[in-house]
Amino acid sequence: MATVTTENSAIENVVIIGSGPAGYTAAIYAARANLKPFIFEGFQAGGLPGGQLMTTTEVENFPGFPEGITGPMLMTRMKEQAIRWGAELVMEDVAEVDFSQRPFVIKSESREVKAHSVIIATGATAKRLGLAGEHQFWSRGISACAICDGATPIFRSAELAVVGGGDSAAEEAVYLTKYGSHVHLLVRSEKMRASKAMQDRVLQNDKITVHWNTDILDVFGEADHMKGVKLKDRGTGAESELHVKGLFYAIGHTPNTSLFKGQIDLDEVGYIATQQGSVETNIEGVYAAGDVQDHEYRQAITAAGTGCMAAMLAERYLSANGLVQEFHQTKEAETRPADVPTKKTEDEQSGEFDPTATRHSGGYALRKLYHESDRPILVFYSSPQCGPCHTLKPMFSKVIDEYDGKVHYISIDIEQDPDIAESAGIVGTPTIQVFKHKDKVAELKGVKQKSQYREVIEANL
Ligand SMILES: Cc1cc2nc3c(=O)[nH]c(=O)nc-3n(C[C@H](O)[C@H](O)[C@H](O)COP(=O)(O)OP(=O)(O)OC[C@H]3O[C@@H](n4cnc5c(N)ncnc54)[C@H](O)[C@@H]3O)c2cc1C
Repeated sequence: MATVTTENSAIENVVIIGSGPAGYTAAIYAARANLKPFIFEGFQAGGLPGGQLMTTTEVENFPGFPEGITGPMLMTRMKEQAIRWGAELVMEDVAEVDFSQRPFVIKSESREVKAHSVIIATGATAKRLGLAGEHQFWSRGISACAICDGATPIFRSAELAVVGGGDSAAEEAVYLTKYGSHVHLLVRSEKMRASKAMQDRVLQNDKITVHWNTDILDVFGEADHMKGVKLKDRGTGAESELHVKGLFYAIGHTPNTSLFKGQIDLDEVGYIATQQGSVETNIEGVYAAGDVQDHEYRQAITAAGTGCMAAMLAERYLSANGLVQEFHQTKEAETRPADVPTKKTEDEQSGEFDPTATRHSGGYALRKLYHESDRPILVFYSSPQCGPCHTLKPMFSKVIDEYDGKVHYISIDIEQDPDIAESAGIVGTPTIQVFKHKDKVAELKGVKQKSQYREVIEANL
C-alpha cells in the first residue's frame, strides 16, 4: 500500500484536471469510492471553473431536470455533490505534467502534486477569429459569451451580430433577440451546421437575418466601442459594412491539450487519443474524459458519462496495483448558499441600510456610500445568467471577509438596475469597480486572482 503524506509531498490516489461535467462526475465517483480525489478546477487557462456550461442559460437535455436547469446551476450542484463526498478542490490551472515517472507529477503555479492516477478533463475552448481590431474591441463590443454579456446596457435595443453556423451560434442568435433590436447571423458557407431544430428556430425568427457566404474582414469603431463589422461576400467578393454594436463569437472550440503535448498521445487534430469505446490513454493509469477526447458528441451527458468511466477505471487500476489509500468520510462538507440578490424598493433599501455594514446591494447603498463613506467601495456588477459571476462571487466574498469593517461591498444586478450599469459604463459582467473619496480608482473585468483584488484594496485602505 502506498504511503500518503501531506500536501506538496503527498501521493494522491487520483488527480482530476478540469471541473466541467466530466471532471466533477469523475470527482463524485472517485470520492464515493473513498479515494478522496484532488481536483484542479482550472482558473483561466482553458475556460472557467465549471466548464463550458457556465456560459449557457437553459440546459434542457440533461436527464433528471424535466423543467430544465441553467448551466451554472447544474455545475454548482455537481460541485456541491463532489464536495459532499470528500473531493478536495483548488481553483488553479495546471501548468505542467510529467507522466514519464511514477507517481505522476502535476504542477500548478503554487503547488506540485504527485498522484498514482490522473483523469484529464480539460475540455475545449472557444476559438477567436484573429481580426486586426479584435484586441482593441475585445469586451468593448466583441464578446465570446452572449449569455454572459448580452444583457449589458450597451447591447439593449441595438443591432447585434453573431458569427458561426453551429448550434452555439444559433442558440446565441435566438438568445440575443431578447435584448437587441435585430440580430445578424454571419455564416461562412451557404448552409448551417446547427441541428435542424435550431436552424428552424433561427430561420423562423423575424428578428434574425442570416447572411450566408459571409467572411468578417475586421471590426471598426471609436476608441472605446465597436461600431460595426466589415464583411465580404465570398461569392461575389463584394465588401460591405454592417453597423452593429456587438459581435458575438460562436465559431467552435479547440481541445485544451497544449499542456499534454509530448506527454501523451494526441490525435491528428489535438484531442487526447483514447482507446475505442474507452477512456484509457496510451499511459496506464491516465484517463481522458469529456470534450478533451470527444469530437463527435460533445455533450454534458457524454462528458459526465466518460467522467464516470474514468473514475471507475482509475479505481480498478489502483486496486489491481495495491495503490489505494482509502479515506472515509466522517462529516458532510458545508457549502455556502448562493448569493442571490433580490430587487427591493427604494424604501425597503433605505429602511435596511446600515452605513457601518460591509455588505450591501442595490442603488440606494451605492449612492449613500459613494457620497458619505471614507472606506474603499467595491461595486460588483453581475447578471443572473453569467457563469463567470457565479465563479467569482464566492471567491470575491472570501476576499471581502478578510477586510470586514474596512471596506464596503455593493452588489448590483445589471438586469435589475440597468440604469446604474449604464451610467457606470458597464459593458460586460462580472466587473468590479472600486471607488475611494468619490473617485474611481480601479476597474477589474472578468475573473482575476484573489491577490489582484487584495492589492487594489490594500492600496486604497
Ligand atoms: C454555449 C454552449 C451551450 C451548450 N449547451 C449544452 C446543452 O444544452 N446540453 C449539453 O449536453 N451540452 C451543451 N453544451 C456542451 C457542453 O457544455 C460540453 O459538452 C461539456 O461542458 C463538456 O464538458 P467537459 O467536462 O469535457 O469540459 P468543459 O465543460 O469544457 O470543462 C473543462 C474544464 O477544464 C478546466 N481546464 C482547462 N484547462 C485546464 C488546466 N490547464 N488546468 C486545470 N483545469 C483546466 C476548465 O477550467 C474547465 O473547468 C454547450 C456548450 C456551449 C459552449
